[in-house]
Amino acid sequence: MCGIVAFKGNKEKTSEVIFEGLKLLEYRGYDSCGIGVIDNNEIKSFKWKGRVRKTEKRFIESKIKSPIAIGHTRWATHGEPNDVNSHPITSYNKKFAIVHNGIIENYRELKKILLEKGYEFYTETDTEVLVNFIELCVSNAKNIDKGISYALSKLEGAFGIVLIQRSNTDIMYAARKGSPLAFGRKGENFFIASDATPIIEYTKKIIYLDNGQLLKIDKTNFEVLDFELNKVPNKFQEVDVELQKVELGDFDSYMLKEIMEQPESLNQTMLGRIKNNKITLGGIHKYSKDLINTKRVIIIGCGTSWHAGLVAEYFLEKYLRVPVEVEYASEFRYRFPIINKGDIVFVISQSGETADTLEATRIAKKKGGILLGIVNTVGSSIARITDEGCYLHAGPEIGVASTKAFTSQLMLLLMIGAKTAYLKKNISIKKYEKMISELKRIPSKIEEVLELNNDIKKISKKIYKKNHALFLGRGNNFPVALEGALKLKEISYIHAEGYPAAEMKHGPIALIDSEMPVVAICTKSDEYDKMISNIREVGSRNAIVIGVIDKENEHVKDYLDFSILVPSTSKDFTPIINQIPLQLLAYHCAIFRGCDVDKPRNLAKSVTVE
Ligand code: GLU
Repeated sequence: MCGIVAFKGNKEKTSEVIFEGLKLLEYRGYDSCGIGVIDNNEIKSFKWKGRVRKTEKRFIESKIKSPIAIGHTRWATHGEPNDVNSHPITSYNKKFAIVHNGIIENYRELKKILLEKGYEFYTETDTEVLVNFIELCVSNAKNIDKGISYALSKLEGAFGIVLIQRSNTDIMYAARKGSPLAFGRKGENFFIASDATPIIEYTKKIIYLDNGQLLKIDKTNFEVLDFELNKVPNKFQEVDVELQKVELGDFDSYMLKEIMEQPESLNQTMLGRIKNNKITLGGIHKYSKDLINTKRVIIIGCGTSWHAGLVAEYFLEKYLRVPVEVEYASEFRYRFPIINKGDIVFVISQSGETADTLEATRIAKKKGGILLGIVNTVGSSIARITDEGCYLHAGPEIGVASTKAFTSQLMLLLMIGAKTAYLKKNISIKKYEKMISELKRIPSKIEEVLELNNDIKKISKKIYKKNHALFLGRGNNFPVALEGALKLKEISYIHAEGYPAAEMKHGPIALIDSEMPVVAICTKSDEYDKMISNIREVGSRNAIVIGVIDKENEHVKDYLDFSILVPSTSKDFTPIINQIPLQLLAYHCAIFRGCDVDKPRNLAKSVTVE
């Protein structure tokens, strides 16, 4: 989602810092892009719907060199994605310009006040209300700091903002409530960005602004204040992030590249964590006793991460024998959740910046839970505010639809579960070692599945024109069905639903006819025979049935229109393998339909607004 990059310093560097920085944030998803600078005592903005490169080209053509600039990639929340609504947005009297990530929830009330004062509006954004409100408050206050402080105190919702003032190229403000902002300084060059990646090229010493903090850069100094303008202690921390530029190589899309990378990304997730057939998880070592003794586990996530949590629920309840609850972060945060001291709360987020998950984490932490992060992005907000955690080490995921992060999330959660079950003495050493050997074999089994790519492409060709699809699974493969349906919806825009196979009779079976492809996950499981009955039920109603089956059960083919034969693994680990063909199926359907799989419409990679 939206990215912010701002710079004050050497004017020869401005364009490079802003545009290279915005390119690094592009993967988060955006619809328009802009830069605002001060030139000849005027705020000048260059902003268009479309890609960073377009804005960069036009800005360079302008030949403007400014020592101060704010840059933005927008993911529209309020107002159409078009040139006018793009950021930066300038205030009515042209005194201020702002870039904003987030949503101002009380923008209607504030707009009413501004309209009464004669302000006029040119965009449909909440951001224009924000910048005009700041302008109004500053004009009513003794000085600019007091005006900004007053304005910030009246805002509801979430924001990360950077503000510049027409009359002063020395001064820049940034404020955060909800949406993350990182700050770095190298001599007299100051950098602000939505995360550390655009900054680490210049300095690895970063201050992450906390909620309710205001950063003021003035000439060659800076200070961090709270919204009442009290100084707050700040400390640069050294970030251990390497810039990983991701090349497409021979692939046409990041999504396909990331699907194909899964044997490697899963090996990376396990790397250094399996020694002498034992699992070592340094990241959560401090809490291993709490994991053993906990009376309850809660798992929080959104979208694909929530599905990973559901798979873990089956495993953890089976082997830890404690209740596990899997929660949508957006629901959890608003429903007065009960957290008892000692509850283990796993927080799952690829980006580590998902706004709802971040807020749910804060709530759970305040209530005394032990927060363990399952995050891919090193140094991200969730990684920083959880008590401890394990990184996925899956490498940067650029495709908006998550693939390799999902399988790494599963791998990590299953490793944590297996180790804890063993430490709790719920499983024997023999069983534990057997689990580990099986987990180690998964990457090579996924290689075998990936070889089915062409067969899956052929199957996709048979269904890509359909408007609907149903995915059925049972037990720990029910979440696989949910995730399979989500992938298809996200990138091909085919309406799809995931269902527990037996539930189908309570409603969805009414939809079944020859126009409804049904994808059934039917690898060996405790519910296997029942799954076959469900396949027969949909087959009898003329559905096109595609089955994911394994080598032990080839005979199920007889009931299927198309079968995808995957290698067998332990019943507990089948979800990692079974997900792969569903990713490929979604990918090929989307390509046949002419969709942009890496940038599906309306979706953002890193969901930083709630
Ligand atoms: N709410 C603002 C808008 O729609 C900012 C959205 C964003 O975070 O990109 O313009």
